[in-house]
Amino acid sequence: MKRIYNFSAGPAILPEAVLSEAANEMLDYQGYGMSVMEMSHRSKIFQQIIDDAEKDLRNLLNIPENYKVLFLQGGATNQFSMIPLNLMKNKKVDFIITGNWAQKAYEEAGKYGDAKVIASSEDKMFSYIPDLTNLEISPDADYVHIVENNTIYGTKFYELPDTKGKTLVSDASSCFLSEPMDVTKYGLIFAGAQKNVGPAGTVIVIIREDLITSDYPAYTPIMLRYDLQSANKSMYNTPPTYGIYLCGKVFKWLINLGGLEAIQKINIAKANVLYDYLDQSKLFFGTVEKKSRSLMNVTFKSLNPEIDDKFIKEAKANGFDNLKGYRTVGGMRASIYNAMPIEGIKALVQFMEKFEKENLV
Ligand SMILES: *Cc1c(COP(=O)(O)O)cnc(C)c1O
Repeated sequence: MKRIYNFSAGPAILPEAVLSEAANEMLDYQGYGMSVMEMSHRSKIFQQIIDDAEKDLRNLLNIPENYKVLFLQGGATNQFSMIPLNLMKNKKVDFIITGNWAQKAYEEAGKYGDAKVIASSEDKMFSYIPDLTNLEISPDADYVHIVENNTIYGTKFYELPDTKGKTLVSDASSCFLSEPMDVTKYGLIFAGAQKNVGPAGTVIVIIREDLITSDYPAYTPIMLRYDLQSANKSMYNTPPTYGIYLCGKVFKWLINLGGLEAIQKINIAKANVLYDYLDQSKLFFGTVEKKSRSLMNVTFKSLNPEIDDKFIKEAKANGFDNLKGYRTVGGMRASIYNAMPIEGIKALVQFMEKFEKENLV
């Protein structure tokens, strides 16, 4: 067996301990004689799995009782439709555009009402988080949508916008459970699992109870109703059972590690190893403003695209995979989610130092 250092942005690296445990339970889950994939979602055993997952997640994030936790399908993108359908009462929503995922959510919301851009960093290729002081929040906005960590560009919000009392909705897909979050500051948090907590397809939604109503357009697809999903505890239909099981294991892995404060410390230390190197390199440089730097997705370039290509190729040959930047952005991106050990980043930096010596003329 050989595992490489996988810097994929998503689906991404998962904790090795979690994968081994799942492998051990593949044929016979805890003496029940079947895999979790093969059991009824209505069984007592699965009920225990989903209940434990919710309990552990509530524990990790300190989720107040007046918030529901939902394990849904369709990835983060499905929420781009589900949120406006359910939350747009005045048919008005404000967006902070910090990259592709915000843009896509904005375009989708525009189908259901009036979506307005109140801040954007498009002028500089989304290399920073816009100034959040004194945003022109629409007086009748149903909510304000942000993408808290920008997977493609490598930026992150270090503070939340003042929404002037309006509901804050956060796409936290690529920073979910990488650090503590004050859930009470949000109306809704959602995260596709494949970035930091599990397999693709599962999406976790944390929603304040008062936002769950039966006031949505009559044409709203049944699977896109929070009231129904919530009343059925994520089991209106067959939920993504195996995904939920794996997410649950990742939650336990995080709890054993000491929770979100502990992982945050580790993540800061990890990111610093790479950023510190980039800041003194004569060949490579980080592509975003220092004060907006993501702890999860580190974007960088070398002096020219030919060297970028050579670097990506040689890195792959040396066991560092998926370092190519997003197709429209170019350069490199090292995604260093929770499961990436600091050894992986140190090894990458060592390789970059060697590459720099050989390629800097
Ligand atoms: C990956 C990602 C998405 C899209 O996730 P899907 O599960 O593929 O729909 C949305 N938002 C952010 C911030 C992401 O990183």
